[in-house]
Amino acid sequence: MLIVPEREIANLMTREAAFDAVEGVFAAMASKDAYNFPVIREAIGHEDALYGFKGGFDRAGMALGLKAGGYWPNNMEKHGHINHQSTVFLFDPDTGMVRAMVGGNLLTALRTAAASSVSIKHLAREDAKVMGMVGAGHQATFQLRAALEQRDFEKVIGWNYHPEMLPNIEKVAAEAGVPFEPVPLERMVEADVVISITSTFAPTIMAEHIGAGTHIACMGTDTKGKQEVEASLLARATVFTDEVAQSVSIGEAQHAVGEGLIAESDVHQLGAVINGTHAGRASASEITLFDGTGVGLQDLAVAASVVDLAVKSGVAIEVDF
Ligand code: NAD
Repeated sequence: MLIVPEREIANLMTREAAFDAVEGVFAAMASKDAYNFPVIREAIGHEDALYGFKGGFDRAGMALGLKAGGYWPNNMEKHGHINHQSTVFLFDPDTGMVRAMVGGNLLTALRTAAASSVSIKHLAREDAKVMGMVGAGHQATFQLRAALEQRDFEKVIGWNYHPEMLPNIEKVAAEAGVPFEPVPLERMVEADVVISITSTFAPTIMAEHIGAGTHIACMGTDTKGKQEVEASLLARATVFTDEVAQSVSIGEAQHAVGEGLIAESDVHQLGAVINGTHAGRASASEITLFDGTGVGLQDLAVAASVVDLAVKSGVAIEVDF
C-alpha cells in the first residue's frame, strides 16, 4: 500500500493535473462509466463534528474508493489544525485490496477549483474579459487562481459579505497580473464569468446582478438549505452540474426545483458537454450556470493522479499491509 502524506501534496499536484483529472471524470460520469455512491454525512455528537464518506467507482479511470472526513469547527482554536479534514483511500478495482492512502485537504480545494475551471472552459464565452468573484474565503483563492488560466481576463471584480476578507482574492489577482476592483454586488452585472463560493444560507446574488451572456459557477452550495443565488436566476439560465441527483437535492438547483421554477430535466451534466452529447452554450447572450456540488469521484480522480506523481518522483511511502 502507498501513502502520500498531506505535506507532499503541494509539491506534487499541479492545477493542470487537477483540471485534467476532473474533466476526465466528469466525462466518464456523463457516459455512465463512473458513478458516485450515496453520500454519508453524520453529526457524530462529539466536538460538533460533521463526518462522512463520499465514494464511487470510475471504470474509465479505474479509480475505486472513498474520501473520509468532514468538519471539526473547534480544530483551529483547540489544536491548531484546519477545521476541514479529509483523507482519500483508493482500492484496486480488480482485487478490492487497498492501494493508497492520500492526504485530502489540499486536494479538496484543488479539485473544487478544477470543477469551476472545467465549467468555464466549456461554457464561458471565448471573449470573456471581466472575472467576477463573490466570496473571499479559503476556497475562493484557489477558485480565482484556476479560473484566471481559462480566458484572457483583463480585470477581476470582487464582492464579499465580509469586505475585510477581499485582500485574499486581490492578492491572487495581483499574482496573476490582473487588476482587481472591489465592487458593490450590483456591479457583478459587468462580469463575463462569475464564481460564487460562499457558505450562505440566504441568496446574495439576485437575478438582476447577472448580465446576459455570463457564465456563473455556483460552488458554495453543497448542503441542504444553503443558497447563493436567487432561484429565479436558474430559470433564466441554462443549468449544468457535476451530478444531477446532488444538484437538485443539495446544490443550488434544490431551490429552483423545489419552487417549481425548473424541472430536474432542465439540469444537464457538464460531462455531456465535454463528451459532445450536449452542445453547451447556444448563443453569446445565453446565461450558463454551473451548479458545482462536489462529488466523491472528483476526489478519487485527483488522488489517483497524485499517487502516480508521487510514485514517479519517489516520495510515495510504501508499507507492507
Ligand atoms: P470560508 O469559511 O473560508 O469562507 C466562507 C465565505 O462565505 C467567505 O467569503 C464569507 O465572507 C462568506 N460568507 C459567510 N457568511 C456569509 C453570508 N451570510 N452571506 C454571504 N457570504 C457569506 O469557507 P470556504 O472553505 O471558502 O468554503 C466556502 C463554501 O464552499 C462553503 O459553503 C463550503 O461548504 C463550500 N465548498 C464547496 C465545495 C464543492 O465541491 N462545491 C468544496 C469545498 C467547499
